[in-house]
Amino acid sequence: MTSAPQPRNVLVTGGNRGIGEAIARALAEAGDRVIVTSRSGKAPDGLEAVACDVTDTASVDQAFDAVQERLGGPVEVLVANAGITQDTLLMRMSDEDFDRVLDTNLTGAFRCARRASKGMLRLKRGRMIFVSSVVGLLGSAGQANYAASKSGLVGLARSITRELGGRNITANVVAPGFIDTDMTRALPEAQREAYLKQIPAGRFAEPEEVARVVRFLASPDAAYISGAVVPVDGGLGMGH
Ligand code: NDP
Repeated sequence: MTSAPQPRNVLVTGGNRGIGEAIARALAEAGDRVIVTSRSGKAPDGLEAVACDVTDTASVDQAFDAVQERLGGPVEVLVANAGITQDTLLMRMSDEDFDRVLDTNLTGAFRCARRASKGMLRLKRGRMIFVSSVVGLLGSAGQANYAASKSGLVGLARSITRELGGRNITANVVAPGFIDTDMTRALPEAQREAYLKQIPAGRFAEPEEVARVVRFLASPDAAYISGAVVPVDGGLGMGH
């Protein structure tokens, strides 16, 4: 008989709502000790939170210190999920529109991964899961900044895999398609309808459908998966 897996210390960035909250709940249900971050530091019911702005290195470092103190050890599972959009056509996209999205979605994930790697090396094990998007590889008109940030996560995870793969640390990317959250509810109805027509599954997904894939990638069953890009998109990005 195998013994039950030990609870791990988990940090989910942007875990106060949407996909991040669903991931945090799925991992907590599996028995892990989970802390979520958001800029406000407010926790959803039943979860613990620390304040963290992923665009600020000092804030990231402070959040990791706070999590380590509260949970009595380093973060073993990092889910880099915090993300924003700022859509507009290329010709109208300002430097600021581009930089803000890259700074949150890509550099923010890098800041968290760099900090997490220190504790994981000490622990001699760790899991990093980066929440990308189908558009990172498919591209999307009006989302040059967002798509660039999300494809950058693939290079980040694969480089981490090459650097730290021999140290019992995995780094994977999940690429969701169209998930029903605040981010997609903000889109005009016509755009939602247009997306729906392109999805072979014929529907949008619930955040829990992404959360279950992340939970698998964080589980002992996924120990030999690293540098992978796992689509959760109802077939939208097939072939990319
Ligand atoms: P939401 O807009 O519902 O949530 C975004 C989360 O990111 C919030 O918790 C927000 O926290 C956090 N966040 C944003 N900026 C920062 C920051 N500077 N520092 C810390 N946290 C920040 O989005 P979703 O749940 O829909 O998306 C979650 C992830 O999944 C994102 O990376 C998104 O790109 C990706 N994704 C979403 C898809 C979808 O269809 N919904 C599809 C593919 C990928 P707060 O604002 O409270 O600080």
